[in-house]
Amino acid sequence: MNTQSKFPKQFSCEFFPPKSEKGADKLHNTLEALAKLEPAYFSVTFGAGGSTQEGTFDTVKEIQEKGYEAAPHLSCIGGTRDSIRALLDKYMSIGVKRIVALRGDLPSGMRDRGDFRYANELVEFIRAETGDQLKLEVAAYPEIHPQAPNAKKDVRNFVRKVKAGANAAITQYFYNVDAYFYFVDECEKQDVDIPIIPGIMPIINYSQLTRFSDMCGAEIPRWIRKRLESFGDDKASILAFGEEVVTDLCRKLLDGGAPGLHFYTMNQTAPTEKLWRNLDL
Ligand code: FAD
Repeated sequence: MNTQSKFPKQFSCEFFPPKSEKGADKLHNTLEALAKLEPAYFSVTFGAGGSTQEGTFDTVKEIQEKGYEAAPHLSCIGGTRDSIRALLDKYMSIGVKRIVALRGDLPSGMRDRGDFRYANELVEFIRAETGDQLKLEVAAYPEIHPQAPNAKKDVRNFVRKVKAGANAAITQYFYNVDAYFYFVDECEKQDVDIPIIPGIMPIINYSQLTRFSDMCGAEIPRWIRKRLESFGDDKASILAFGEEVVTDLCRKLLDGGAPGLHFYTMNQTAPTEKLWRNLDL
C-alpha cells in the first residue's frame, strides 16, 4: 500500500459544456441523477483558447445555483494574465472554490500562445492572485503525457505543478492499473504529498474511445481492443463488457490505496451510475 491511502477518498464527476439545446436538456437530467450519488464536485471542461468559455461558465453557474459544487477547468494556453484574472474573478463571484488548472492544447490555426507556457505557471499565477482561496487540481499522466520528452522529465514537470501549489491531481484515463501505481511510486520518491486521483473513462463507444485515446496518449490494452472489436455494432455487449472491465479497474485502484475516483461521465448518467453502484461507493 502506498502513501496515497492516507488521504480521505473523494469521488467526483466531469461534464463538458453542452453544444445544443438538446445537449443542455440531457445534461440537466444527468446532473440531477448523478447528484443523488453525492459526488464531492462536478468539474466542467474548457476548450483551450477560450472556445467554450461561455458554455463552461454557464454550466458551472447552473451547477452552483442548484446547490452542488462545480469546478471549472481552466486552461491557460492562449490566455493572458488579464484574461485569466478576469475569468478567476468571474468564477469567484459565483462562489467557485475549486479550479482544475491546465495548460490545454492550442487549437489548430491559433498561433498566439499567450502569457503562459505550462500549467505550473498557471498554478503559480492563481496562487499569487488568490492566495489559498481556491483548491487547485492539476492533471497527471500515468502513461506519460504525449508531448513529454521522456517519463522522467514528465514526472519532474508534474512535480513543478505540485510545488507551485496544487492541492490534488486528477489523472488522464488509463486501463493499465500498474501504470497508475508506478506513477504514484515515482511521485512519492519526489516527495509529492497530494492525492493523485485516477480519472476513469467508462467504456461506452469503441470508435469514440479509440479516437480519444489516440489524441491523448491513453493506451487501450490489446485484449480490451480485440474484445471490443469482436462485438461490432452490438452496443449491449460493448456496454456490459466495458462495465465489467472498468468496475474491476476501479476496484483494483481503490483496494491498492487510490484516494478516490474522478469519472469522465461524457454527460451520460448510466455508465457512471452503474460503476458507482457496483463499487458500492
Ligand atoms: P502541463 O502540465 O503544462 O504539461 C504539458 C506538457 O509540457 C507535458 O509534456 C509536460 O511534461 C511538459 N511540461 C510541463 N511543464 C513544463 C516545464 N515547466 N518545462 C518544460 N516542459 C514542461 N484539455 C482541455 O483543453 N480542456 C479541458 O478541460 C481539459 N481537461 C483535462 C482534465 C484532466 C484531468 C486531464 C488529465 C487533461 C485535461 N485536458 C483538458 C487535456 C490537457 O489540457 C492536455 O493534456 C494538455 O496537453 C496538457 O495540459 P497540462 O495541464 O497537463 O499541461
